[in-house]
Amino acid sequence: MEPIGDLERELEELRETFRSGKTKEASWRRSQLKSLLTLLEEREEDILQALHQDIGKNPVESYRDEVGTLIKSVNYALDYLKQWMSSKNVKMPIVAFPTRAELVPEPLGIVLVISSWNFPFGLSLEPLIGAIAAGNVVVLKPSELAPASSSVLATTLHSYLDNKAVKVIQGGYCVGDQLLQQKWDKIFFTGTPRVARIVMTAAAKHLTPVTLELGGKCPAVVDALSCSWDREMAIKRILGGKFGACAGQACIGIDYILTEKKFATSLIEQMKVSTKKMFGENPRESRSVARVINQHHFLRLKNLLDDPMVKASVVYGGSLDEDHLFIEPTILLDPPLKAAIMNEEIFGPLLPIISLEKIEESIEFIKSRPRALSIYAFTKNEKLKRRLISETSSGSLVFNDAIIQYAADTVPFGGVGESGFGRYHGKFSFDAFTHEKAVVKRHFLIEFWFRFPPWNDYKMQLLK
Ligand code: NAD
Repeated sequence: MEPIGDLERELEELRETFRSGKTKEASWRRSQLKSLLTLLEEREEDILQALHQDIGKNPVESYRDEVGTLIKSVNYALDYLKQWMSSKNVKMPIVAFPTRAELVPEPLGIVLVISSWNFPFGLSLEPLIGAIAAGNVVVLKPSELAPASSSVLATTLHSYLDNKAVKVIQGGYCVGDQLLQQKWDKIFFTGTPRVARIVMTAAAKHLTPVTLELGGKCPAVVDALSCSWDREMAIKRILGGKFGACAGQACIGIDYILTEKKFATSLIEQMKVSTKKMFGENPRESRSVARVINQHHFLRLKNLLDDPMVKASVVYGGSLDEDHLFIEPTILLDPPLKAAIMNEEIFGPLLPIISLEKIEESIEFIKSRPRALSIYAFTKNEKLKRRLISETSSGSLVFNDAIIQYAADTVPFGGVGESGFGRYHGKFSFDAFTHEKAVVKRHFLIEFWFRFPPWNDYKMQLLK
């Protein structure tokens, strides 16, 4: 097992910083957030290069999904920090008159953030923004599968932020395991349900609260939009939300499409045209398709396609290049529902389309499967929208677009059921790392005598 150099000393330094109270000061939180902003601006080039090196992401995509989104998030936190940090007065029952009560936000303490590789900066720094804004000290363990990004995080955070309060510890599952043995005040985990179970088991030992940001299969219901403008726009957003976001390696990326049989052929024809517009006749030469993260995942995706029944369902794409970890944006029509591709999270540029007699059947289809992180529906049918809202459950439900919810500070980002629990982004990130303490201040002026023993029937009547 790779030992973490002097972990105890590092953690003691963090605890000492927290005990000193300096991270609770608004000035410290603000200065750290501002430094993070400076880091993102000054080290943009290093970040974009690392993302290209790790996952072959185009710098424009990286800016849109990581640097740009993070700059927006830090600015949002800076704008609202004072409001978030302030106590809120609340009412008390008449029996407690006269009393004042308030909810006082306080930091949880020492927190551990374990992140994933597909958006290595966003998934590390979005929680970090919340943790710092809330006044905590933090250990961040980025994913070993994106080593260039992990290394940029370690070096830059060390030089821009207070390194007695924020530490990056790099490494794989052995390092993760050693970190999980420690006592934390909060663990914020992004990754697979398998590792989430390990995290929760370790957290249970110390009664540590956890946020679990997991994945799953996000369906997109695609209705036969009658207007050609709407249809074209929908297809662009579907393809962008699948192939144009880390080549489908996104937790909220579209996993599969549900559409009506009679619409499937024309949908596919239009998707082919739009895919060519986005990635060219030879996508292998396109600089707009990210690469598969590593050989293990490449072979996992290849295996999904190697099933003869699945292979026979490919209607577009399907070429693979192991040397360059490239998989062509691929569309499939009606692969068997029992095949692995329809039961495991795909997490790659393969897009199955499942055709149904009636679009309303999509609701039962979705309900019969584990609850998704996101459901997308491209439709103008208000009745279908209402049914999806009331009859299905998911972390988020987005009409007529995909992925866009990740960029919002005002809606919570997180899963439900198998896609995780807890939420973050904007104020929700602050809350994820905050304990809201109930502070009740009574006066001595008046008292209701019937609140106290000895008990009798008359006091019971008065209490009722
Ligand atoms: P993973 O669970 O394999 O790893 C996640 C992190 O946990 C990594 O940092 C890894 O080093 C660490 N880890 C692995 N084993 C560990 C152990 N035994 N003890 C402690 N730490 C350990 O997941 P991944 O491959 O990095 O990510 C892909 C998954 O994450 C997908 O399922 C995807 O849907 C999900 N995801 C979810 C979100 C979200 O915001 N909900 C975002 C991105 C990815």
